[in-house]
Amino acid sequence: MEKILVERTASRGIAVSPVYYYQEPDLTPDSRMICQGQAAGEEEIFRNAREKVIEELQVLAEKSEIFAAHQEIAGDFTLEEGILTKIRTEGKNAQAALQETIDEIAAIFAAMDDAYMKERAADVRDVGKRLMAGMKGIELPDLGNLDKEVIVAARDLYPSDTVKMDVSYVKGILTEEGGITSHVSIMAKSMNIPTLVGVKDILSKVQGGMMVCMDAEKGEIVLDPDEEVKKEYKARKENYEKERQILVQLRNETPVTKSGKRVFLCANVGSLEDIRQALPMNIDGIGLFRSEFLYMENDHFPTEEEQFEVYREAAKLCPMELTIRTLDIGGDKELSYFPFEKEENPFLGWRAIRISLEKREMFKEQLRAILRASAFGKVRIMFPMIISLSELKEAKALVEECKAELRREGKAFDENIETGMMMETPASVLLAEEFAKEADFFSIGTNDLTQYLLAVDRGNKKISDKYDFMHPAVLKAIRHIIAAGHSKNRKVGMCGEMAGNLKAVPALLEMGLDEFSMSAGSIDYVRKLVLAAE
Ligand code: PEP
Ligand code: MG
Repeated sequence: MEKILVERTASRGIAVSPVYYYQEPDLTPDSRMICQGQAAGEEEIFRNAREKVIEELQVLAEKSEIFAAHQEIAGDFTLEEGILTKIRTEGKNAQAALQETIDEIAAIFAAMDDAYMKERAADVRDVGKRLMAGMKGIELPDLGNLDKEVIVAARDLYPSDTVKMDVSYVKGILTEEGGITSHVSIMAKSMNIPTLVGVKDILSKVQGGMMVCMDAEKGEIVLDPDEEVKKEYKARKENYEKERQILVQLRNETPVTKSGKRVFLCANVGSLEDIRQALPMNIDGIGLFRSEFLYMENDHFPTEEEQFEVYREAAKLCPMELTIRTLDIGGDKELSYFPFEKEENPFLGWRAIRISLEKREMFKEQLRAILRASAFGKVRIMFPMIISLSELKEAKALVEECKAELRREGKAFDENIETGMMMETPASVLLAEEFAKEADFFSIGTNDLTQYLLAVDRGNKKISDKYDFMHPAVLKAIRHIIAAGHSKNRKVGMCGEMAGNLKAVPALLEMGLDEFSMSAGSIDYVRKLVLAAE
């Protein structure tokens, strides 16, 4: 018997089952140098594999939108160009060229600090795996063929593995890699499978068939448990499931505190798929639509029309409040098609609204797209990283300019659309009263606010113990923002991770926060806390 403690819960829940050891096929490229005359044949190998993979993904795309994105990656110009260049000019065969190109593209994503974008490296690798399997003529293993209840232990699971998983047999998942915003985490959450990721060396500690107890609530795993422990975990599981049922029933309750304050519970999303996953939680709206993902997933700046289609679909899916944050690029988030100059301190550099106000034509395309989508729902515009009133006024003036253009063109939009701002810089805290006169709403971005107030890099593991949104300085800043917003009757929300943190929620309720926006998986739990609060 061995007990392991894990920090990263990807999806809550408890399981007691034997292990299914997920053996990955050997997809090591058979690397060979080729001569000029062989290049056309190697290109053919790549094109055939790609064609087959795009067809496979077409079928899977009907089950999950993730595979539509994978289809785009498979057909992507950057990928093709990288592979063909390596075959034609570097004398690499198709398998070596594929592996190197996938590594290069995945490395760009993996180097980003933003957790969500970092995890997109896994999508690129997943597509790479498929293409390699296609080139090698290997069938990928299928988690759809299980015939008894198991806990799957794997190095990592990709969307193509999880999509086929039968939830009646997969009772839990343990992976060595993967973060809490990886697809395995997102899928596991939507399927309600208890999942722990980042479980170091788990594959060297278990064998297929070994009994395992896992509590993804507490981050505990027991390998080869004795009868006593098994009994204890089964009891925990029963309790957990009862509590889950209560939570699901509570979804019908309007989130109001005992003293009668109506609190709004919203979701943070980065795609239409995220919105679909959040809707069953009976959300009040989307408190943060991170529009940068649309830019990062493309190989060009998305046009007004391309953006409009996505925002309109989002507004139709979520006719309640839909808060679209304008491009928050720079810092850690880069674009493959737009070179950023190297900066000493990218988080203090050319990012977010600073870029938008400089690249006005690009900014106006986004604003026009959002405005046009506002004809289909209750859309709000939110500006990131604001430090001065002049920035906010300039951004609002551009909104007005776009409105005037649309009026002239006879294109519909919501004349009363609200424009608000992220409160995530120390300057925005100190000037909160002034900002409250100009902004229709505030949303506190504690992820950045904490790093800027405490001078602690949000992505630096070495000092992660100092990154604390419960630090008195951060709490004081939040209290100040809420009071300033309320003094002008502005709704004050929060879309940083803190809003979904169960230890922080009671304090935020006591401070009078109006709206909590978080990842969908936390909403049920926060609702329960709201209903229990005074
Ligand atoms: C924040 O800073 O709290 C926030 C929500 O924005 P992001 O994490 O995208 O920087
Ligand atoms: Mg931020």
